[in-house]
Amino acid sequence: MKNTTVLISGASIAGPALAYWLERHGCTVTVVEKAPALRPGGQAVDFKGPAHMTVLARMGILDEVRRRQTGGHDTDLIDADGRTRAVIPGAFTGGEIEISRGDLAALLYERTAGRCEYVFGDSITSLTETAGGVHVTFERGAPRTFDLVVGADGIHSNVRRLAFGPEADYVRFLGHYYALADIAAAGPAVRSVMYNEPGRMVSLWGNKASAFFVFASEPLEYDRWDPDQQKRLLARAYEGARWQVPEIVAALSGASEFYLDSISRVEIDHYARGRVVLVGDAAYGNTLGGFGTGLAVVGAYVLAGELAAAGGDHRTAFRRYEEQLRGYAKVARKGNAGPFLAPPTQARITMRNQMFKRRLLLKSMLWTADRFASGIDLADYPAPPSR
Ligand SMILES: Cc1cc2nc3c(=O)[nH]c(=O)nc-3n(C[C@H](O)[C@H](O)[C@H](O)COP(=O)(O)OP(=O)(O)OC[C@H]3O[C@@H](n4cnc5c(N)ncnc54)[C@H](O)[C@@H]3O)c2cc1C
Repeated sequence: MKNTTVLISGASIAGPALAYWLERHGCTVTVVEKAPALRPGGQAVDFKGPAHMTVLARMGILDEVRRRQTGGHDTDLIDADGRTRAVIPGAFTGGEIEISRGDLAALLYERTAGRCEYVFGDSITSLTETAGGVHVTFERGAPRTFDLVVGADGIHSNVRRLAFGPEADYVRFLGHYYALADIAAAGPAVRSVMYNEPGRMVSLWGNKASAFFVFASEPLEYDRWDPDQQKRLLARAYEGARWQVPEIVAALSGASEFYLDSISRVEIDHYARGRVVLVGDAAYGNTLGGFGTGLAVVGAYVLAGELAAAGGDHRTAFRRYEEQLRGYAKVARKGNAGPFLAPPTQARITMRNQMFKRRLLLKSMLWTADRFASGIDLADYPAPPSR
């Protein structure tokens, strides 16, 4: 196999999953991650359907993922007096297996750390393709040359910006932001609750995170690596809210984990440019769309498998990877979770709540989600047994 030195940017889900498969296929893999260490946190992410399960099983982590899974419980949709208006069944918010994003990232890291090089606290500053490789410079480390470079650095991908162009050309803002926080003040509960006012939502004690926020907004200017600034933006968005919102927002100052991002969708025609290719949210992200993690894991499996099948010929491999993922990832090009989680008017909130009383409708929505998640025929890419 040729093209065996690979640099991956991003150590969340897509990056370590790809590192796992590339190493199995005989590559020498380096993963660079901007955060100083593996990032914990994030809400629960889910897997559903045979395609996801097959890849997890082939990676040998299906049992471990099941062992670490979080229980999907029901959510009470409440009004400002705390009265339950409707109930979202657990099966609707979680998939077949639900696991915390941080736990999944840690598991994938554990499986690859001894075999791949991980560099934390650094980021790529330039990519220059030459005839035989890509010359890479870093914020901190010395320049290096790799055969191939992969952007697995999420919806705001740095690699995509450097190799394809500015984020504004490829990422559509969908009019909402979301935030997740671990706040002790909220206390444990057996059911989660979700409170809505037009254009804003707060959920507590969910499978997702102890506090979960979604709010409609114009695009906001902020530093994505400055949680204190983000908390101030969130507090402003929830000014004047009722129920327990003022107390919950006040508790954010002591939150052990906090994450805020826009709800956005990646819209890009090709996943590869020369020796640089994108995988996971960087290529087909749709925030809170419910498919990001499964797509990332399946995408990593197919990308590494096609490279091995093509003997390292990146042009052939990237084309085949794109052919397979384009159709499968189509689901990520639809839908916007924002108006569903934070409907814009009281009438829409009531309509959304009513929907959860219609069992048949719910069943058909779950069936559709499963069908999308299973919509790929996975090839078997033989890899030597892991050492
Ligand atoms: C902290 C965190 C919390 C999340 N919480 C949720 C959630 O609650 N719900 C949900 O649906 N999805 C969440 N996501 C996104 C979810 O993980 C993805 O949709 C999905 O799992 C696909 O993963 P990915 O690896 O492609 O992208 P991501 O999980 O977004 O990972 C991208 C990785 O690249 C790193 N990175 C970013 N910039 C650079 C750079 N310049 N150089 C090197 N590395 C860089 C990031 O730190 C991150 O580790 C979260 C992601 C993160 C990082």
